[in-house]
Amino acid sequence: MTKYSQDSGKRVAVVGGGVIGCLTALYLHRLGANPIILEKGNTGRESSWAGAGILCPIHPWLYPDSFTHLVDASLSMFPEMNAMLEELSGLKTQWQSCGLMIPMFADDRIHHREDALNWSKRFGWKVEELDSKQSCEHEPTMSPQVSGSLLWPEVGQVRNPRLLAAVKQALANSNITIREQAEVIGVGKNGEGEVSSVTLAGGETVEVDAVLLAAGSWSGELARQIGLELPVEPVKGQIVLLKDKPGKVNSIIKHDDVYLVPRVDGHILVGASMERVGFKPGTTESVVNNLLEATYRITPGLKDAEIIEQWMGFRPGSPDGMPYLGPVDGHPGLFVATGHYRNGVALAPGTADIMSRWIMGEIPSMDLSDFRVDRTVVNLEKVGFPAAA
Ligand SMILES: Cc1cc2nc3c(=O)[nH]c(=O)nc-3n(C[C@H](O)[C@H](O)[C@H](O)COP(=O)(O)OP(=O)(O)OC[C@H]3O[C@@H](n4cnc5c(N)ncnc54)[C@H](O)[C@@H]3O)c2cc1C
Repeated sequence: MTKYSQDSGKRVAVVGGGVIGCLTALYLHRLGANPIILEKGNTGRESSWAGAGILCPIHPWLYPDSFTHLVDASLSMFPEMNAMLEELSGLKTQWQSCGLMIPMFADDRIHHREDALNWSKRFGWKVEELDSKQSCEHEPTMSPQVSGSLLWPEVGQVRNPRLLAAVKQALANSNITIREQAEVIGVGKNGEGEVSSVTLAGGETVEVDAVLLAAGSWSGELARQIGLELPVEPVKGQIVLLKDKPGKVNSIIKHDDVYLVPRVDGHILVGASMERVGFKPGTTESVVNNLLEATYRITPGLKDAEIIEQWMGFRPGSPDGMPYLGPVDGHPGLFVATGHYRNGVALAPGTADIMSRWIMGEIPSMDLSDFRVDRTVVNLEKVGFPAAA
C-alpha cells in the first residue's frame, strides 16, 4: 500500500489528468485537501488538448435550462480562474473575448434564429442581428450569399494547449502530486464500505480518503470495472488547422457542418466531426475534405489559407449531452465529474469549483439534479450521441 504523501488534508485521488481532473485538483488544494492526480498517459494530452476552446455550447438552446445555468455559472468564474492560473504558472492561456457569429444562408439545414434569439433574451446573453452587408463587413471572408447573421459579441475562447500548459505548471508550482503512466483499474473499500484506495495497473494500491472519477471518454469503462453504470462513450472529433494573416477572421463562425475559431496569431481552427467510432484513432481524408469544403463555401475568402495540420480527440460523450457530476450512491467517498462532451472547457471552472467543495463536504447551493450520476437518460437526438458508424 502506497501512502503518497505525509501532508495533512483529505487525500483525494483524482483519476484522469484532463482539464476536469487537473483543475479540480488545483481547487481541492486551495481548499486544504491533499490531491494526487493519477493519469494513465500524459497529463492534458487527450480531449482537453484537442478541443477548440469555444466558451459557449454549440446551440445551447437545444439543452434543458439547467444546462445554461451551469454554463453561466462556469463562465462567470473564468476571469478569476484565468488570473489564478496565470499568477500560479507565469503562463498566458490566450483566453479572450472574440464573439461568435452564426451566419444564415437560404439552404441552411438548421434554422436557429427564433430559438437562438429567445434563448439569448431569456438568459441575458447579448446578441445582435446583422444583415447581409453588415455580416460581410464584420467577417470579410464571408460569402456574399449570406442573408444575415446572429452575433454574440461577448463569447470568448481559450487556446487549449496553452490552458493545459498553464494548469500543469500551476499544479507543479503548488507541489500537487501528478503521477503519469499510472492507470487506475479499481477502487478499494474499507470495512465500513467507504472508498479507501485505488489500484493501479501493475498491482500497486494507493491509500486515499476519496476518489474523483474524471477519466474523460474512458470513464464508462472504468466505472464498469468499479461496478457502476455510466453511459459515457467517446465521440471522435477531427480538426484542421489553417494559417492566414492575423485578423482575417474576427469572431468564431459556426455553421451547419463546420466552425472556425480564429487565434490571435492567424491560426484558424476548423472543426469538428462528430463520429461514433469507439476509440479509433487518426484523421481521415474524407472528414478533412468535408470540413474544408464547408469552410470554403461559407468563407470563400479563406481559399488561400495554408493548411498546417490535422488532429483529433475523443469527447467524453453522454446520451443527453450533459455532464455527470456528484457523489455516487452506495459508494461513499466516490465522486464523478465526467461526460462533459462538447463543453468540457467551458464547464471546467464551474465543475472544479462545485466538485472540490462537494468532495470537501459542502453541499452545492445550485440545483444539480439534472447532472446526477444515477439519472435516467435517453439519447437526445440533437445533443446526444450521433448514429454509430
Ligand atoms: C475536437 C473537439 C473539439 C472540442 N471543442 C470544444 C469547445 O470548443 N469547447 C469546449 O468547452 N469543449 C470542447 N470540447 C470538449 C472538451 O475538450 C472536453 O469535454 C474536455 O476536454 C473533457 O475533459 P476531461 O478532463 O473530462 O477529459 P480528457 O481531457 O480526455 O482527460 C481525461 C484523462 O483521463 C485519463 N484516463 C482515462 N482513463 C484513466 C484511468 N483508468 N486511469 C488514469 N487516467 C485515465 C486519460 O488518459 C485522459 O488524460 C472539444 C473536444 C474535441 C475532441
